[in-house]
Amino acid sequence: MLITHDTECALSILVELLNTAPEACGSEQLPDVAALSAFVVRQEISEIDSLGPADLAAVHELRSRLREVFSAGSVERAAGLVNALVAEAGTTPRLTNHDDHGWHIHYFAPHAAVGRHLAAELGMALAFIVMAGELERLRRCEAPGCARVFVDLSRNRSRRYCDSRTCGNRLHVAAYRARQRSAEAVPATGG
Ligand SMILES: [Zn+2]
Ligand SMILES: [Zn+2]
Repeated sequence: MLITHDTECALSILVELLNTAPEACGSEQLPDVAALSAFVVRQEISEIDSLGPADLAAVHELRSRLREVFSAGSVERAAGLVNALVAEAGTTPRLTNHDDHGWHIHYFAPHAAVGRHLAAELGMALAFIVMAGELERLRRCEAPGCARVFVDLSRNRSRRYCDSRTCGNRLHVAAYRARQRSAEAVPATGG
């Protein structure tokens, strides 16, 4: 798969961002500018000069548009959504080696507002996924009642659940019950 480490990092931010939405987890995890600010720090998003209510609104809108790519249904539709995002973001690729990260490419325009910054970076990460023919790796958790998204980077593309604690536990309980059922079904061989 032609997915670089930088793309993987961007995809991880993408998943974290999408899973802050009420559609994903039942309540808004980015309800105010302070929460957005904490998200920016936690995800180490660079060159963000200031944050205000307009930035919060822009990030909420971007989040819905990014989520549409996960449910695009066809490569053509996904490509159209990604193209629109990246074009509107004023993407300007440039090499940088800030903060000892080694040489990598920033797609966002220098000191762009957070909405456009994320649209450029996350949009390009999605573009690489489409280009690599890996759109099917963008998934929605299959646990009942869970709408979180994840990117399945497993070798055999077998991942079905998000890694939230709740779904992990649900999964373990289900697996435990399944093991018990199969243990009951198989007659014990002498002991
Ligand atoms: Zn960087
Ligand atoms: Zn889940």
